[in-house]
Amino acid sequence: MSASSDELRSRLQERAYEAIENLLRQKAGRRDLSMSEMEDLVGDLEIELRQSLLQEMVVDAQQTRPGLCERCGGKLRYKGKKSRQVVTLRGEVKVERDYYQCQTCGKGHFPPG
Ligand SMILES: [Zn+2]
Repeated sequence: MSASSDELRSRLQERAYEAIENLLRQKAGRRDLSMSEMEDLVGDLEIELRQSLLQEMVVDAQQTRPGLCERCGGKLRYKGKKSRQVVTLRGEVKVERDYYQCQTCGKGHFPPG
């Protein structure tokens, strides 16, 4: 197991822990939850997890700076972060990714693609 995957594991576990703590806070003191209220709580946790785990995986994948432009071989310049809606099987999530632009042809690059 590499140091990097250990680090990713602990960040994912931390996010899962936060999501569960969040659910417990919302449930706090309530013993009369209906089935559909429980489903709502777990559904919120699911959305939170999907968003935060995906973001952590993108951050992890972006630790390696991209090389050269895949279209023309020009140098890439870092242009900051941009957010993107990602459509998954279970709905949409918003993820922030590093954005690079080729200094030669202007093509935008969003590793990991
Ligand atoms: Zn280019």
